[in-house]
Amino acid sequence: MSDTWAANAVLAELSVFSAKEVISLATGGVHTVLNLLDRFPKRYEDRRRFDAFPTQASSVAVCLRGVVTDAARKGFGGRSGFYEIVVQADSGISFSENSITCRWFNAPYISKIIAAGHEIILYGKPKEQSGKLIIDHPEFEIIKETGEGSVHVERIVPVYKNISGITQRRLREMVFQLVNGVEKESLKASVDVDESYPRAEAYHEIHFPSEMEQTSAAHRYFALEEFFKLQLNVAWRRRQYEKQVGRAQGKKMYLLKEFYESLPFDLTEAQKRSVREIIGDMRKASPMNRLLQGDVGSGKTFVALCAALLAVDSGAQVALMAPTQILAEQHYITFRKWLDPLEVRVSLMTSERSEDGCTEWSRKPQIVVGTHALLYDHGVFDDLGLVIIDEQHKFGVEQRGKLIQQGVMPDVLVMTATPIPRTLTLTIYGDLDVSVIDEMPKGRGKIITAVRANAKVSDVSKFIKQQLKEGRQAYIVYPLVEESENLKAQSAKKEYEGWQKRLKPNEVGLLHGKIKGDEKEAVMQAFRSGETQALVATSVIEVGVDVPNANIMVIYDAERFGISQLHQLRGRIGRGAHKSYCILVTKSKQPEALEKLNVLAETGDGFKIAEADLKLRGPGDVLGTQQSGLAEMKFLEYLADVELVREARRLADEVLQSDPILENYPELRAELVESEIPSS
Ligand code: ADP
Ligand code: MG
Repeated sequence: MSDTWAANAVLAELSVFSAKEVISLATGGVHTVLNLLDRFPKRYEDRRRFDAFPTQASSVAVCLRGVVTDAARKGFGGRSGFYEIVVQADSGISFSENSITCRWFNAPYISKIIAAGHEIILYGKPKEQSGKLIIDHPEFEIIKETGEGSVHVERIVPVYKNISGITQRRLREMVFQLVNGVEKESLKASVDVDESYPRAEAYHEIHFPSEMEQTSAAHRYFALEEFFKLQLNVAWRRRQYEKQVGRAQGKKMYLLKEFYESLPFDLTEAQKRSVREIIGDMRKASPMNRLLQGDVGSGKTFVALCAALLAVDSGAQVALMAPTQILAEQHYITFRKWLDPLEVRVSLMTSERSEDGCTEWSRKPQIVVGTHALLYDHGVFDDLGLVIIDEQHKFGVEQRGKLIQQGVMPDVLVMTATPIPRTLTLTIYGDLDVSVIDEMPKGRGKIITAVRANAKVSDVSKFIKQQLKEGRQAYIVYPLVEESENLKAQSAKKEYEGWQKRLKPNEVGLLHGKIKGDEKEAVMQAFRSGETQALVATSVIEVGVDVPNANIMVIYDAERFGISQLHQLRGRIGRGAHKSYCILVTKSKQPEALEKLNVLAETGDGFKIAEADLKLRGPGDVLGTQQSGLAEMKFLEYLADVELVREARRLADEVLQSDPILENYPELRAELVESEIPSS
């Protein structure tokens, strides 16, 4: 055991493990010493002290040590059979509280492994069934040796994701052997993220920590490494992009001035700042790549209009892509409203409907508003100079790239109403410059948000009717969790009929996913014009609806929506001068559900909400796994750690500053993900 190996040594060439084991490891993707060391434990067990045998069911797993006193196949064999063992605490006193039953279904091999008399360690959640405490399919380990220097007991032990053909114990022994035998020098990374913490020590502590607290230092170390690589990619991509020769546009500002003078209001300071930042970008020869963030209703559309006019004034065309039909229509209406007087040619292009702002045009549109339909080349773009993408996170990187490629290095402006926590703008959106509209237009009414558990429908309708009487309008939203769109439509219809009766003599509209195209547009139009005073809807109104007169939103079963989604929905009200009311109705008694809803009741600040969302749900759920590069990340949860993300970014910038083409870091260079930006 005095052998040492380099980290990149190939296991098949060493004689540490048997040939059979090497094959199993290889099948599990482990070929080198480092491959195995890079499989970090999924959890740890502190086997210096075990949990007491439980006396009741528990939703957290317990770790027990005991002796198998009874083991037998039960049931009728075949499919309904199972293997049952009884494990008793080591203490030797056989009270029933000191024992627990474990069962395995459809796992006949277990009976060949565990027998009465074995000393065993169990890990699982106990439940109560017919008066007994049971753990079904616990993780387990049979203790063979007793005595000094054990890898498996009397210490904090790692538990790994399984590799087929190798037991947990054996796997642990292998890692133990390698982590102690690997040459420390060979574990050094090309960029040391923390000079005060040797990397070899981090490996040792992550696998066989001396104390639980040490694991977090080790995890942080490797998280920092991972984020450093992510940041290096981002910074690299950003530098590549900046090197591209784009177009310098926005020198002429006639249309912009004319538009500005036609506005009945002044832009907010935040809007002006964003416009200035955009003008600065567009005038530069390198292409703009900017993210415009602002809460719903903060006035992003007007900033986008300014950007569009700069491009048009330079003789280029503009594409504005929105994620839904409704949102595209909404933008189209807004653009037409403000740009028709300036004689700018605007057209709409979606898969359901295309429309040219003016039929007698002999020339191509200057601005095309649309949905995904824009991604397909229809020959409308002769010279696409500006791409505006609304609700960025709903489009994949590929789609974004596809639209951008229809122009020659166009300027790109991405808009999002979903506030993005700082750590994300530093990481996944780190290649974009960011403008933030952090100020609402003046004269907005306050939104009062209240959580109501089990609100009586009569109280709710009384409140709504009162507001409708004063000339306001209301949204009534249902999450509708039915599997099929048909069932959803049916139940939306049922709710709708109920509200028609309750709100009489007011008119009520209905909107759900099954209502398509023209009909949907007609429903929206009726609500916009005030022909209908209330709108019963599923979450399809989430984005892009702008009816300033609507001041009430009642959301049923609100806990079923995500916190950010609720915030988006709520953004539909509070757009006019009237005081607005958002009522979150829930039947849930779950503390987490109420906590979530209370966050909304307490704050209207989108960034605070986004951060709460990230904390409550974790980055995986917030971002979805499709976000490029994130799915494979081991330390995704550190995305909420601003300090760490900043540090990683600083390191990445430092490296690229000193070595812009990573000449001295071939391993890092090799890991860069090829940029999505076309190089032509
Ligand atoms: P967003 O796109 O950020 O959701 P919009 O651009 O659609 O917001 O603006 C929301 C509403 O506020 C619209 O009705 C718009 O006319 C109005 N608005 C935008 N900017 C201002 C401003 N500076 N002053 C007053 N009202 C504004
Ligand atoms: Mg908008």
